[in-house]
Amino acid sequence: MNSAFDLAAAEADALARDAADPLAGFRDEFLIPPHGDAEQVYLCGNSLGLQPRATRQALLDELDDWSQLAVEAHFHGKHPWMPYHAEVRAHLAELVGAQESEVVAMNSLTVNLHLMMASFYRPTAERNAILIEKNPFPSDRYAVESQIRFHGFDPASALIELEADEANGTISAAAIERAIGEHGDRIALVLLPGLQYRTGQTFDLKTVAELAHANGCLVGFDLAHSVGNVPVDLHDSGCDFAVWCSYKYLNSGPGAVAGCFVHERHARTSRPRFAGWWGHDQATRFAMGQDFSPMPGADGWQLSNPPILALAPLRVSLEIFQRAGMARLREKSVALTGYLETLIRTHLSGVLEIVTPRAPARRGCQLSLRVEGGRDAGRALFEHLETHGVIGDWREPDTIRIAPTPLYNRHVDCLRFVQAALNWSGRRQML
Ligand SMILES: *Cc1c(COP(=O)(O)O)cnc(C)c1O
Repeated sequence: MNSAFDLAAAEADALARDAADPLAGFRDEFLIPPHGDAEQVYLCGNSLGLQPRATRQALLDELDDWSQLAVEAHFHGKHPWMPYHAEVRAHLAELVGAQESEVVAMNSLTVNLHLMMASFYRPTAERNAILIEKNPFPSDRYAVESQIRFHGFDPASALIELEADEANGTISAAAIERAIGEHGDRIALVLLPGLQYRTGQTFDLKTVAELAHANGCLVGFDLAHSVGNVPVDLHDSGCDFAVWCSYKYLNSGPGAVAGCFVHERHARTSRPRFAGWWGHDQATRFAMGQDFSPMPGADGWQLSNPPILALAPLRVSLEIFQRAGMARLREKSVALTGYLETLIRTHLSGVLEIVTPRAPARRGCQLSLRVEGGRDAGRALFEHLETHGVIGDWREPDTIRIAPTPLYNRHVDCLRFVQAALNWSGRRQML
């Protein structure tokens, strides 16, 4: 039985929490999509982050430089194009806990994953397997399987999938330890997410990296759902590489330029790589010589000169993160998601089951919610939410993901979600 819902009291409580939020002002820096005359309750920053107000002008600035300066803008633009990617480097490095030389903004996530595997997945007859979680984001699986085949091996034996061992479909640290312990001598690469997109669970990067290395495996992380959501210390984790995208929590727009981390220990590696002219030593890049001499660090994996129009939104976004501070954002995020969780447990038990782990240390802002009654009930609730301007996202077969992000979401947004779900379940019970 769900507790009686005193809407007026809940509303006053949510508003008081929002009034006490030191980061509340950041919401005004974002464009919240409309729902009729009101604003959407946008809880979908895990899929596509909202547009910062400053992004439009940043793009116009680049168009102006292009029209007024053309090729000269490489050196004399407001934000000169030649060193443009370096303008985002410091903020990016800070956000992921890396040294500046360890990160680069380039390409898109799946492209970067392939570039990293070209260097860090070097299978041999004895050691050719890749360990991933069961049911990873499909693109990661396609990338991994295709790399295995590219090297002449068979995913049927060279792809090892980590099974969920916890009741909610999450994976325990013990299960990772068992899998690496059991298969470690044939695993070439461990590739796990920082935060699993479907369940919302996080993995302890340092523990995974240590286990992998202790068994002679390299380790890479996909941080698509971690960056901008939970604090990450990539350098200290000791992982070999990491990749992420920038259109989810980083609010840099659809298809935004992604990120890539290569640990310092590989800064001057002689491993093979897929090379392009922008990875060549910048001191001699324009000598147009025929011998490739890579930049040290992550820069050495760049292929092409960077897309300025696509980097401008990333520059804007990282500047916002810089001002807000990841530690403060995380503090708010833990409170906000905890508040949502309490409302769901108190008022929607029997309607929604929370899949995401309960401990804040094992999750980010997203709660994955399984709708009681299966897929049809789930779709009906999801559509009811959309009709009422509450935007989450749907993952087959029966999961709604709700992600209150600390930069622009409020406690009252969480309350609106719970109200809408309660309305739906009340109506359903009367039928
Ligand atoms: C969002 C996401 C992707 C998307 O890949 P793109 O190359 O950016 O299209 C891939 N993997 C994971 C884990 C994701 O969450």
